Amino acid sequence: MTNNRQLLLLLVLMATAVCARVGIAQERSYESYQAVFNLPERERAPFETVDVEIHHVAGSFYYLSGEGGNIGLSIGEDGIIMVDDQFAPLSEKIFASIRTVSDADIRFLINTHVHDDHVGGNLQIAAHGAEILAHENVRTRMMHGIRGNPPSPKLAWPVLTFLEPVTLYLNNEEVQIIPSPPAHTDGDIYVFFIESNVLHLGDVFRTTGYPNIDVGNGGTLAGTIAGLELALELAGPETKIVPGHGVVSSRTEVQELLDVTLEVKARVALLVEQGMSFEEIVAAKPTADLDDRWGSRLDRFLPGVYIDLTQ
Ligand SMILES: [Zn+2]
Repeated sequence: MTNNRQLLLLLVLMATAVCARVGIAQERSYESYQAVFNLPERERAPFETVDVEIHHVAGSFYYLSGEGGNIGLSIGEDGIIMVDDQFAPLSEKIFASIRTVSDADIRFLINTHVHDDHVGGNLQIAAHGAEILAHENVRTRMMHGIRGNPPSPKLAWPVLTFLEPVTLYLNNEEVQIIPSPPAHTDGDIYVFFIESNVLHLGDVFRTTGYPNIDVGNGGTLAGTIAGLELALELAGPETKIVPGHGVVSSRTEVQELLDVTLEVKARVALLVEQGMSFEEIVAAKPTADLDDRWGSRLDRFLPGVYIDLTQ
């Protein structure tokens, strides 16, 4: 009996300790770290002023620029595979732009992750008969809504989800869909068009600034580093790399982003070791000499770095 009581006491103590840990972790939200920067919400260009342009990259692969994430397209005799779709109000312009190159059906729409500048047009593209593919976590998050928003309409949800690599064969192209470690979000995937030798990395790779680590949607610094390393393993010297945002690049630019990520991690780790709070680290401006090149949205990078180093 005594033994049982001791066991019970031990279990209660352990449960209390676990709750306390969870309590500490929940004490500070990702948003509260972002709020330290006190930056205004970024204003988007009004959709009616946005030009959607189609660019040929290599082989069957094109990309569409506009407002939001870069859209990838494999266009060929079997139809169209589309990667991401920006925002719903741009869908008509997106269709019109695709129609300047092809009248084929969009057969598959692949979402690189859950953010609305990449999945915002899902409903419109699905209404034209495309099947939506994405990481399982994208579907789960769309079903519940992200950042306090209501759930997406059911027709916008992926109908085929996966946690492991998947391959499509269309347009004489092997299209590898490869989950990344949780980097920008916990639903990131890469899409590698093997014959065209084009790799679309979604928002794990952007040429517009530091990595954007959306901790609120499962993003992590460790996954960002591992994800960029994975991209470098996949890409050859001639591979064209399409970022989620920014310009078509090569593995050189991916290496640069990985290097600056590791550099900032090392700098912040030193300050954490000195016992500085997040506010003190931000005030110390440890990235000041790097911010001219990489500094867009430090509020979406430094919290991710700090959280990974301290939890
Ligand atoms: Zn994103």
